[in-house]
Amino acid sequence: MDPAYLSYPAYLSYLVRVSSVLISGGGPAGVMLGYLLARAGVEVTVLEKHADFFRDFRGDTIHPSTLQVMHDLGLLEDLLKIPHSEMRQASGQIGSDRVTLADFSRLPGPCQFVAFMPQWDFLDFLVRAGRAFPTFHVAMRSEVVDVLTDAGAIVGARVTRGDAVEDVRATLLVAADGRHSVVRERAGLEVQNLGAPMDVLWLRVPKVPDDQPQPLGRVVSGRFLVMIDRGDYWQCAYLISKGTVEALRARGLAALRADIAAVAPFLRDRLETLTDWDDVKLLTVVVDRLKTWYRPGLLCIGDAAHAMSPIGGIGINLAIQDAVAAANILTPPLRAGRVTIDDLAAVQRRRLWPTRVTQRMQVTMQDRVVAPVLAGGAGPFRAPWPLRVVSRTPALQAIAARFIGFGVRPERVR
Ligand SMILES: Cc1cc2nc3c(=O)[nH]c(=O)nc-3n(C[C@H](O)[C@H](O)[C@H](O)COP(=O)(O)OP(=O)(O)OC[C@H]3O[C@@H](n4cnc5c(N)ncnc54)[C@H](O)[C@@H]3O)c2cc1C
Repeated sequence: MDPAYLSYPAYLSYLVRVSSVLISGGGPAGVMLGYLLARAGVEVTVLEKHADFFRDFRGDTIHPSTLQVMHDLGLLEDLLKIPHSEMRQASGQIGSDRVTLADFSRLPGPCQFVAFMPQWDFLDFLVRAGRAFPTFHVAMRSEVVDVLTDAGAIVGARVTRGDAVEDVRATLLVAADGRHSVVRERAGLEVQNLGAPMDVLWLRVPKVPDDQPQPLGRVVSGRFLVMIDRGDYWQCAYLISKGTVEALRARGLAALRADIAAVAPFLRDRLETLTDWDDVKLLTVVVDRLKTWYRPGLLCIGDAAHAMSPIGGIGINLAIQDAVAAANILTPPLRAGRVTIDDLAAVQRRRLWPTRVTQRMQVTMQDRVVAPVLAGGAGPFRAPWPLRVVSRTPALQAIAARFIGFGVRPERVR
């Protein structure tokens, strides 16, 4: 019988017996790490607090680095059978300038594009693929509420499922429970906040059949809109100055519709479909990083170790890269049944530099580009000269595509 169908608490008792790794959180980092460890023969259980993966506006970009990982795993062909769209160039309309910022078409590797696919489809796909391994277990509606400690080491997690509470012990607990990680908080790990000048409002606007391809980003003085083509609708991210959402709400939905129409006039009529603030999802932007990503018996990865700015849409991909690095480094000690603090430190050493470089770049873009745009100002608005240079220079567009698509120090599955 599939253990997932065992009644609770028999199910968690089963996990207690079999799992050497418990992963808190079934997002991209947790599910990918679970898949990779199970593939290597390690008994692993992913605990996800929700009943399914269906959450809107969760981040749906799958970059070439992740597509490369899927290729390494022999999963790419089937993944790309799932409906998705492909972005081969990233361009922007900045005031009167139309600029091309990144050209993915010349990237090495199996895919020369960024794929847009609902994150729940991606996660469902990975979980289904993981079921091929008898060592892979996923427990939905299972929320980690605390860590278990013994003589200063973390030895498992306290998990709730419905009204039931169970203490589950494991060789290693991995916190992949996102940027509001309960595990990292309960483990007392120190967070460094790097700051962000903006928040993001996510919303959908219908597409019409004769819509032309649109630039990814649209900027006029005081307004910044990102539009992602999702087939039958535009997924829009409208940037606002940090902490101003309540003032915006007070101005009313009609004012928000007018603000967005000012940067994308062709959407004006369709914005009338936005009739309720429930249609608008606030992403409070946080850029942070743990000082130390581990304690004896515990490792944090993905957003739980470092929440990324939405700039570049690379949060999912860094989470996946962390999972690959963690699996590469930890599989041998896990197979031997003993993970030392040095093994955990090796994962942080491997991933800290890419994280730092990426966050530094994001913070620079936030401070030098986004904040001045949102602050507004009179007069004609043009692309800053460095972006105009990139737009005229294919070699620079290829470098930008490589940075966005693969990041620094891309990981390959061992
Ligand atoms: C609105 C929005 C839009 C975004 N857009 C993009 C984008 O376009 N591209 C991009 O690359 N990134 C985007 N991001 C960021 C991206 O989603 C994250 O960087 C990425 O998902 C991080 O993956 P993760 O697995 O580390 O954490 P998460 O994806 O946050 O997954 C954490 C999982 O843990 C579960 N969980 C939380 N607490 C517990 C608990 N106590 N017990 C058990 N389970 C728990 C959660 O339900 C969740 O499933 C966006 C984020 C948001 C919020």
